[in-house]
Amino acid sequence: MRILITEDDAPLAEALQFSLAQSGYAVDWVSNGAAADEALKGDVFGLLILDLGLPKLDGFEVLKRLRRRNITLPVLILSGREKPEEKVLGLDLGADDYLVKPFSLNELQARVRALLRRGQQGGAAPTILYGELGFDTVSRSASIQGRTVPLSAHEAGVLEVLLHRFGRVVSKEQILEQIYSYDRGVSHNAIEVYVHRLRRKIVGGGVTVRTLYGQGYILDYVSH
Ligand code: CA
Repeated sequence: MRILITEDDAPLAEALQFSLAQSGYAVDWVSNGAAADEALKGDVFGLLILDLGLPKLDGFEVLKRLRRRNITLPVLILSGREKPEEKVLGLDLGADDYLVKPFSLNELQARVRALLRRGQQGGAAPTILYGELGFDTVSRSASIQGRTVPLSAHEAGVLEVLLHRFGRVVSKEQILEQIYSYDRGVSHNAIEVYVHRLRRKIVGGGVTVRTLYGQGYILDYVSH
């Protein structure tokens, strides 16, 4: 899951980025509204954290443009302005939640989890199950027949991408896009390492990750 933070207060943005990355999200940060508007056209994000007072394009305008394109990703507004009419305006423009600064990182994390959970209710169930392998998309944990499979944040990220495209080829680029932020230089070799570890860890789950040389990977049922 990839999150975009739009915030011009650099120390705050860095704290948010660090905290969310620790929870296993791929987090990108932009510091002005125009950059956010541009980044959101790519449609790779699962959640937007949006400050209101921003250079170039304010948060309201970013939100308005996003919803005009019929993009439904969850939006959490951050604001230092405590005027109640701004909260109403933000929600009217299509924000899903609103946090007034200062807030604790724990509260932000809880709101993010709640938004992602809510977003999934209309679509897929929060737990994805194939064979004996279950994956809880909210806690980002995997299990086989009820036993927890210990995964690193990156391994869980790779598994999540593969599960969402079960039975279909996923390229290394598509995996990279979902588990890394733009500013991290990560090689395809790293993805190979995560897939290799993941494949070993999910043995017994009735599914496996196949490699299609030159194309990518497929998560599929183990054939007998
Ligand atoms: Ca600001």
